[in-house]
Amino acid sequence: MVDRLTINSVLFDLDGTLHDYRKASAAAMDRVYALIEQGTGCPREEQVKVYNEVLRSRTAAAFVCGRRGVGYRRERFTDLAERLRLPSMDLSGLESEYSRGLAENLTLYSDVPPTLDRLRESRVRVAIVSEGPHDAQIDTISRLGIGPFVDHIFTSGECKISKPDGLYRLAIAAMKDDPQHVLVVGDSLDRDVIPANKSGACGVLIDRSSGTQNGSATTTIFSLLQLFDGPYEFGIASC
Ligand SMILES: [Mg+2]
Repeated sequence: MVDRLTINSVLFDLDGTLHDYRKASAAAMDRVYALIEQGTGCPREEQVKVYNEVLRSRTAAAFVCGRRGVGYRRERFTDLAERLRLPSMDLSGLESEYSRGLAENLTLYSDVPPTLDRLRESRVRVAIVSEGPHDAQIDTISRLGIGPFVDHIFTSGECKISKPDGLYRLAIAAMKDDPQHVLVVGDSLDRDVIPANKSGACGVLIDRSSGTQNGSATTTIFSLLQLFDGPYEFGIASC
């Protein structure tokens, strides 16, 4: 018989775990490309190619320097305009279009609301731990409508530390929880599961694309609702 693990707190990654950030961001960029094409005639394919180069050249080091999201975005769009040789491009217009596009396309994965409901019923504490600019992640959480279900939010932008360098450890310490009673759920092995396990918590990989266990030692789920079928007892343990 498998020992059941009492869980006091569940820490979720945000982008790719609770909502499809890539899809929302791609939809927002589509609007930016359309605006540039309309204004300059620069073909979309050329813009996509150059913007991908911009993204590759700009590693934001997990956003730990604490700047606002708009600063990173302005840098990327400035770089895009320079590489496309479009010096008179209205960058603030592009930023507004991107923000509107992102806001309109943010969508929770369908398993998130029932999972948060069940965790709340179990009186488990819920936190979001995310690598990104603090203001942008707070805005995303608010737009997704999940703020009332979340007890704590920790971002690399605010805490000035990346996940591999200890953001999960810092979050668990700030919540004054015993890592042995903490579950961490994220869509990245390197940035969520491994750092979580290193902090002493139990890391779980969410991989909605596979639908099967990946054969490794990592606990993998393809729906958050599978958490309730696992060897976990959700409720407050005395630690
Ligand atoms: Mg993620």
